[in-house]
Amino acid sequence: MFGLIGHSTSFEDARRKAHDLGYDHIAKGDLDVWCSAPPQLVEHVEVESAVGKKITGAYIDSCFVPEMLSRFKTARRKVLNAMELAQKKGIDISALGGFTSIIFENFNLLQHQHVRSTMLDWKRFTTGNTHTAWVICRQLEINGPLLGIDLANARVAVVGATGDIGSAVCRWLANRTGVKELSLVARQKEPLMKLRSELHGGEIESLEEALPKADAVVWVASLPKTLEIDSKSLKSPCLMIDGGYPKNLGVKFSGSGVHILNGGIVEFFKDIGWSMMELAEMDKPQRQMFACFAEAMLLEFEDCYTNFSWGRNNITLEKMDFIGEASVKHGFSTLNLKEHYQAAIA
Ligand code: NDP
Repeated sequence: MFGLIGHSTSFEDARRKAHDLGYDHIAKGDLDVWCSAPPQLVEHVEVESAVGKKITGAYIDSCFVPEMLSRFKTARRKVLNAMELAQKKGIDISALGGFTSIIFENFNLLQHQHVRSTMLDWKRFTTGNTHTAWVICRQLEINGPLLGIDLANARVAVVGATGDIGSAVCRWLANRTGVKELSLVARQKEPLMKLRSELHGGEIESLEEALPKADAVVWVASLPKTLEIDSKSLKSPCLMIDGGYPKNLGVKFSGSGVHILNGGIVEFFKDIGWSMMELAEMDKPQRQMFACFAEAMLLEFEDCYTNFSWGRNNITLEKMDFIGEASVKHGFSTLNLKEHYQAAIA
């Protein structure tokens, strides 16, 4: 069985969802009540892949909401409790979705393997970052040319280049896609220099230097809401792949030449009878989902029970090949620029 560990996008959404599910006592509670609410297994689902493989899964809501991010101990407890519940329910492989993987990594939860009487078995969990990185790269490879961007002659900026997803994206773009020039953007210099030496190339740049020169920008950093960008300084066309969570690029850019694509999102080939993606603001919640969630499904489809994506900077090209092939085989496709993609396949 696969599992998806997630959370609502805001406290308000969480309360609405709790009300819909009949958990009225929690729905009416304030943030303090929610801080002590235990995780809930809210949904079971059966899924059949494009090659006829049937699997079952479950969605666990960690009862974490982004408003709790500043409450360090609460955030940590929420993620660990959700992982404990997944393990106790016998779920073989669970993806840590949304902020839960960020909390796991940034708050160093590897040190907390014991949750009450349960010893967490790390092999049962994946961050889903390998599939996310592969999907983002494919989104660039498919949609860049639709806008007339020839990637072999293009300059691509990766914002968040030294992160787990960003470094995998850079590896792929340098070695597989073969983009002409790569701008590496992050705040800390040392990891950037290490990455550049691993890639044998790439230019370390600030955001202000990188953006006006880029034909495409991959955003894989959680950026501050206050970030201001002058759209007029950007190239036209410019493809922006918004791989961060939460997605907030759309409000920062306007202008006919700038095309923003929600990154790290996949679509299954048929409807799945679940309601769990309704609050994730997907256009087609019955089919679309975060690529990290889909990774748990793919590992289950492939009987691959291991913490496939784990830790930082461990994503290899071979792992991306494996998960990418599984993704296509079992019926997932990447989210693409609607009108351009439809015109191209018509
Ligand atoms: P990491 O924490 O590993 O990496 C974050 C990267 O962003 C680092 O390179 C960091 O470097 C950089 N960064 C952070 N703040 C800034 C800033 N203000 N300006 C420039 N660079 C910055 O994160 P992940 O790779 O795990 O995840 C990246 C994003 O992808 C997250 O927003 C996450 O939510 C999203 N995600 C999406 C998924 C999906 O399914 N669609 C799945 C999983 C994650 P430095 O600190 O040196 O600046």
